[in-house]
Amino acid sequence: MGASVSDLDFDVVVAGAGPAGSLAARGLARRGAKVLLADRSSFPRWKVCGACLGPGASAALEATGLSAIPRILEAVPLAHLTLVSGGRQARVALRGNRALSRESLDAALVEAAVAAGVEFRAGCRVSLAEPVGGGGLEVVLRGAWDGSVRVGALVDATGLAGGLCGPPPDVSVRSRVGLGAVFEGAPPDLRAGDLRMVVAPSGYAGFVRDERDRLTVAAAVDAPALHGRSPADVVTDILRASSASGGAAAAGAFDLSSPLHGWKGTPLLTRRRSPPARPGIFRVGDAAGYVEPFTGEGMGWAMGSGLAVVPFVESWLVGRADAGRAWVRAYEAQAAAAQRFCRAVSWALRRPSLVDTSVRLLRRRPSLAAPFVAAGSVPSHGFS
Ligand SMILES: Cc1cc2nc3c(=O)[nH]c(=O)nc-3n(C[C@H](O)[C@H](O)[C@H](O)COP(=O)(O)OP(=O)(O)OC[C@H]3O[C@@H](n4cnc5c(N)ncnc54)[C@H](O)[C@@H]3O)c2cc1C
Repeated sequence: MGASVSDLDFDVVVAGAGPAGSLAARGLARRGAKVLLADRSSFPRWKVCGACLGPGASAALEATGLSAIPRILEAVPLAHLTLVSGGRQARVALRGNRALSRESLDAALVEAAVAAGVEFRAGCRVSLAEPVGGGGLEVVLRGAWDGSVRVGALVDATGLAGGLCGPPPDVSVRSRVGLGAVFEGAPPDLRAGDLRMVVAPSGYAGFVRDERDRLTVAAAVDAPALHGRSPADVVTDILRASSASGGAAAAGAFDLSSPLHGWKGTPLLTRRRSPPARPGIFRVGDAAGYVEPFTGEGMGWAMGSGLAVVPFVESWLVGRADAGRAWVRAYEAQAAAAQRFCRAVSWALRRPSLVDTSVRLLRRRPSLAAPFVAAGSVPSHGFS
C-alpha cells in the first residue's frame, strides 16, 4: 500500500495544475522546496480556452528553460488573424502566436514539474481546514488521495472557478461568460495557421485548428444570450449575426452541436480578488484575477505569475512575515499594467459600430493593425 498523504512531509501545496500552478510548483521544487501539486481533474484534461499560445506565454517558457515544449508538441504557428464583423472581414498578419491544445500543453508542464521533483496528484480536490492554532496551514485533500497535510504555504492556482480562501471575487457586472468546445476535424475553409475571430453584438468567438488538426472554438458571450439557448446555438447566432461571408463559412459546413470536448461554460470572466484572508496563501493565474480573453494572453499572465511568485513563497517559508503582502503588491502592479490593453479591447468590443469601422479600415490598410498586434504580442509575460 502507498503512503497516506498525512504521512508525507511537504513545505508547500500548489492547488491547481494549470500553467500557473505547474510553473509555480516546478520553480519552488527547483529551489529545494518539497512540493505537492494537486488538481481536482484527471489528467490530461481539457479546459475552455482558445488554445492560442501568445508571445507572453512563449517568453515565460523561455525564461524557465521550457521553450522547447511547443516545438516538441508540434504547436501550429499562426500566421494570420481574420477578423469578421458586420458582414465584412479583414486579414492581418500575426507574429509569435501558436495553436496548441490544452490537454497537451498542461500535461507537458505537469511532466516538467514532476521531473523537477514535484509530487503530483490528479483527481484530488484541495481545500483549507479552519485554523486550529500552531504554525502553518492545514490543507485537506479529497479524491485520489484522502487526508490532510500541514504545510508552510499554499499556492492557490485554482483558476477562474476556484479560489480557496477569502471573500468571493469582485466580478464586473458587464462581464461576459466563456464557452468552449473541441471538434474532430475542422471546416475546410479554416486553414491550419489561421485564427478566425468573429465579433457580434452578443459576444465573440475564435476558431483555430490545433496540432491534431481538430477545431478549437472559444467564445465570450453576454450571459443573457444563454437563457433558453444551448452554447452551440449561441455561437451559431454570433456567426450568423456577424456576417454572411466569413462567419457563415466557418459555421455553415460544420456541425457545432456534437463536440469531442465541451460544450462547457465558465463563470463570469472579468474579475478581481481581494488578498487572501489568511497568511501563507499566494494566489496566481486566473485565481488572482482575469480580464476577457480576446487578446489571448491568459496563459502568458498565468505562467508569468506562476514564475514570479516563487521568491515570495520562498521568503515566506524562511520567516519573512511581509512576503504575502509584498506578493499582492507586486501582482497588482504587474497585472494592472499587463491587463490595461486587454480592458480597452473588451470595452471596444461592446461597440459594434467601432468594431465594424475597424474591420473596414483594416480591409483597406492591414498595416494599421501593426501597433495592436504588437501590443497584444508584447514579448514579455507581463511579470518581471
Ligand atoms: C473562452 C476563453 C478563451 C481563452 N483563450 C485563450 C487563448 O487563446 N490564449 C490564452 O493564453 N489564454 C486564453 N484563455 C485564458 C486561459 O485559458 C487562462 O488564463 C489560463 O488557463 C489560466 O491558467 P491557470 O493556471 O491560472 O488556471 P487553469 O488553467 O484554469 O487551471 C486551474 C486548475 O485548477 C484546478 N482546480 C480548481 N479548483 C481546484 C481545487 N479546489 N483543488 C484542486 N484543483 C483545483 C482545475 O481543475 C484546473 O486544472 C481563454 C479563456 C477563456 C475563458
